[in-house]
Amino acid sequence: MGVGSGAMGAMGDDARDGQGPRKGALSWDDYFMSLAFLTAMRSKDPSTQVGACIVNARNRIIGVGYNGMPSNCPNDELPWGKKSSSGELATKYPYVVHAELNAVLNKNSESCAGCRIYTTLFPCNECAKVIIQAGIREVIYASDKHSERLSAKASRRLFDLAGVEMRHFAPEKDLLALPLRYTEDRQRADRVVERVVDRVERVPAAQMTPLACSGCSCRGSRETANDRWNGLGWMAAAGFACLIGGVGRGRMRPVANMAARFGLR
Ligand code: ZN
Repeated sequence: MGVGSGAMGAMGDDARDGQGPRKGALSWDDYFMSLAFLTAMRSKDPSTQVGACIVNARNRIIGVGYNGMPSNCPNDELPWGKKSSSGELATKYPYVVHAELNAVLNKNSESCAGCRIYTTLFPCNECAKVIIQAGIREVIYASDKHSERLSAKASRRLFDLAGVEMRHFAPEKDLLALPLRYTEDRQRADRVVERVVDRVERVPAAQMTPLACSGCSCRGSRETANDRWNGLGWMAAAGFACLIGGVGRGRMRPVANMAARFGLR
């Protein structure tokens, strides 16, 4: 998979001055780690979703993977639990293929030698062996939440001995919102949102009718019924941020409803 400039398309509200390259483009690190997180979203594991992305020295993607059951093994015929009164054979552990191993096995290049791997979770010792044997020279991980487990300690020991660099990922952006609709539709929706925001800001607080912002952590207007800022929470339709609760926290009223409410359609 080659990656050219602008492969992600124009997104968000980055400044464009028309005089030079678009500002705010993703860094390579953020890009590859976001691919690892995106890939993790393919996982069927109900408790832990892990993604990994292997990249060569020229920033070309060599392989991606997520944790899942082996190919041709139906997902619903194997256990997904972490514990079972029937013993370990009735848990997921003997069966699941880890993200890092899948990324190595999925590689579209002859070798992973000299590559780096971005992974959402620090590798277990079994994956550490695979990473070392594959010739990967750097591990960039987003979470180290199991650092006290024997498995993680063994991984560190192996990486140290083998001279594999380990780096706790420090993102430039905390959150990445991806559009899943065509750009022109988004631009039209963006314009509607701008107009709704403008209109909402002019409505006196006392005239605001409380509407719940369902699912968002702001809990919408239920607690702060006449707060005019609740209005901004509503307009976070699919793909838009709830301006109170943050981005992507829950489902909001569709923009179409908002637009109709404020006479914009
Ligand atoms: Zn592993």
